Amino acid sequence: MDVIVVGAGITGVAAAEWLRRDGHDVTLIDRLAPGDAGQTSFGNAGILARAAVVPVATPGILSKLPRMALDPDKPLFLRLSYLPRLIPWAIPFLRNSTPARVAAIAEALAPLVTDSVEQHLALARGTPAAAMITQGPYLLLYRDREAYAADAASWALKRAHGIEWAEWDRAEIEAHDPAIAAEFRFAAAMPDHGWIASPARYVAALAAFFTEQGGHIREAEVVDIRPSESGGASVTLAGGEELSADRVVLAAGVWAGRLAARLGHKIAMEAERGYHVMLSNPSHLPPSPIMVEAAKTVATPMADGLRFAGVAEFAGIDGAEAEAPVALIRKQILQLFPGLTWEGETVWMGRRPTTADSLPLIGASPRAPGVIFAFGGQHLGLTMGPRLGRMAAGLASGGGSNLDLAPYRVDRFQRA
Ligand SMILES: Cc1cc2nc3c(=O)[nH]c(=O)nc-3n(C[C@H](O)[C@H](O)[C@H](O)COP(=O)(O)OP(=O)(O)OC[C@H]3O[C@@H](n4cnc5c(N)ncnc54)[C@H](O)[C@@H]3O)c2cc1C
Repeated sequence: MDVIVVGAGITGVAAAEWLRRDGHDVTLIDRLAPGDAGQTSFGNAGILARAAVVPVATPGILSKLPRMALDPDKPLFLRLSYLPRLIPWAIPFLRNSTPARVAAIAEALAPLVTDSVEQHLALARGTPAAAMITQGPYLLLYRDREAYAADAASWALKRAHGIEWAEWDRAEIEAHDPAIAAEFRFAAAMPDHGWIASPARYVAALAAFFTEQGGHIREAEVVDIRPSESGGASVTLAGGEELSADRVVLAAGVWAGRLAARLGHKIAMEAERGYHVMLSNPSHLPPSPIMVEAAKTVATPMADGLRFAGVAEFAGIDGAEAEAPVALIRKQILQLFPGLTWEGETVWMGRRPTTADSLPLIGASPRAPGVIFAFGGQHLGLTMGPRLGRMAAGLASGGGSNLDLAPYRVDRFQRA
C-alpha cells in the first residue's frame, strides 16, 4: 500500500518505520525536520516511564488545584486569559479523576507503557538510534517516608499492574548518588527502566534509517485531510498540492486536533506545556534519572549534559513562552544538587498532547476510514510512541490488535 504518515515526532517516525518494515511504500510528512526543536519529541525528559500507569487527573485534584495554581513554587501554571478556552477540556478532565475512572484509565495505560523499554529496543534494533537507549533504575525522590505514604494510592495502582520498586532510606540514596541534597531522605527506586540519551538525535536517527531503507520524507505543512472514494484518503499541502494514499496515519502530536477537526472530530485535548533547562558540562551527572515527586521535575543524565524538565502550563498551543516556569525549574536544580555548577544552559518549551482522560487516540476515523489516528501520548508520548506507532501501522495494514481498543476510540469525546 501507499501510506502517508503526518508528523515525524517519535510516534510518526515509529509508525512510518513499522509500516516500511511491513513492505509498504511510506511517505512521512512534517513541516519540520525530525529532531527539530519545534517537536515535542525534541526536549522531553527522555524517560521510558514503564511504571507510569497513573493518569494525569487523580482523586482530590479539584481541591488541590487552587493552591497549585496560586503558589509559584508549585509546578502548575494557568494563564488567566486562556481559562475560558480551557473549560471544554477541563470539565471532562476533572470528571476523569474519580477513583473508578482512574482505575479504568490505569488499566488502559498499562499495556501502552509497561513494555516500553522492549518496544523501543525493537524499534531501534539495527539502527544507530539503539545506542541512545540507556537502561537502569529510575528514582522517585521524597523528603521523607511520610511524603511517600501520602502517595500510597498511586503506588497501590502501580503495584496492581505488576510494577516493583525498592524503598531506599538516606543511606541507600547516598550510596547511589551522594550529590543528592540531604533534605531528600526517602526514594522509591524502580529497576529496569530506560531513558534516551538524546531524544532529538534519537528521532532524527530513526528517521534517517527509515529513508536509507527506502522510506520517503517530505518537509511540508499539511493543511487539510479528506477521505477518498476508494476508501483511502488524501492530504492537501500548504501551497495546494494534493497527495493521495491508501491510508493516512495522523501522528501530528498536539496539532493533530486541528487536522482531525477538518474531518469533523471534536477532541478534548490540550497543549500541556512543559519546559526544560539543559545544563552543559555540569560538575555532576547522576548515574540514572531522578524525579523529585513534589516538584514533578525530572533530572536526566544525557549525552549533552544534565536536563531538568517539568512543569505543566496551560496557555494554548500558540501562546508565548513564560519566564516563571523556567525560574521554578532553575530553583529546583540547586534544591536537588546543592553546589552544582555548569558551563552553559539552554531553555526549551514543548507541548504535551494531553487528552481529558489521559489516554491516546488510536484507531480509524469513522468519518474517514482510511485515516488512522495515533496521538495524545500526554506526559508519556516518548514512552508509548513506538507502541502507538506500531499499533497504527498494524491497523493501517488491515491487521487487528489483541488489545481491546475501546478505551482509545477516536470518537469517544464526541459521544460523551
Ligand atoms: C517538558 C516535557 C517533558 C516530557 N518528558 C517525557 C518523558 O520523560 N517521557 C515521555 O514518555 N514523554 C515525555 N514528554 C511527552 C512527550 O515528549 C510527548 O508526548 C511526545 O513527544 C509526543 O510525540 P508525538 O510524536 O506524538 O508529537 P511531536 O513530537 O510533537 O510530533 C508531532 C509532529 O507533527 C508535526 N505536525 C503537526 N502538524 C502538522 C501539519 N499540519 N503538517 C505537517 N506536520 C505537522 C509537527 O511539526 C511535529 O514534528 C515530555 C513532554 C514535555 C513537554
